[in-house]
Amino acid sequence: MDGTAVDTTPAVLILLGPPGAGKGTQARLLEDQFGLVQLSTGDLLRAAVAAGTEAGKAAKAVMEAGDLVSDEIVIAILRDRLGDADVQRGVILDGFPRTTVQAEALDALLAETGQKINAAISLEVDDAEMVTRISGRFTCGACGEGYHDTFKAPAKPETCDKCGSTNMVRRADDKAETVGQRLEAYHAQTAPLIAYYEGKGVLQTVDAMGQIDNIAGAMAQIVRDVK
Ligand code: AMP
Repeated sequence: MDGTAVDTTPAVLILLGPPGAGKGTQARLLEDQFGLVQLSTGDLLRAAVAAGTEAGKAAKAVMEAGDLVSDEIVIAILRDRLGDADVQRGVILDGFPRTTVQAEALDALLAETGQKINAAISLEVDDAEMVTRISGRFTCGACGEGYHDTFKAPAKPETCDKCGSTNMVRRADDKAETVGQRLEAYHAQTAPLIAYYEGKGVLQTVDAMGQIDNIAGAMAQIVRDVK
């Protein structure tokens, strides 16, 4: 590539972190700022459950128990979504990969299209804080904007600041008893990916215990540096 050529390869960012770390919130902010597409396997699975597809039927009870859905199902869902036209401008993977098998499958998928991972950003948080964060959170059912009873309440109660909808939804698996299992699954199966991406030289870490805006600033700086 000469000095004037522009690298048009779309960016691939991975957000790592336990449930409640703020992956979805930060992914949406980066999406708005950089024109990338947030790709959440949790959202894709919830849509499959709601639509009653075969994958959705298989995933429902597993998700409600706070366990991980099988690699086979999740990889198939992600592969389908990566083929859509809108994601060609670059993606923020939120909640994928969650196992080493998924990380290796992602490497293989990206190799097929000549893409690389620009950064895997690990959001570092305390487990104890996660239960508080998760139990207070809810989302606008119309546009997907995330809220929290304490940390990010909408200006008008139960009304989305962004689109005005009053259809606020709380996730079934955000119950306190399920959150413990989700944290356990994270530590057992997903946390090893921090070392996986460190080994590939793409790991970045962000202290995600502070204010949403400060964390967003740190994330944006990383994206500008690696894009
Ligand atoms: P999330 O919205 O990312 O918190 O995901 C909600 C639930 O969906 C998780 O607790 C898992 O049951 C399932 N899930 C989402 N992404 C994955 C994945 N990459 N691998 C396995 N299960 C997943």
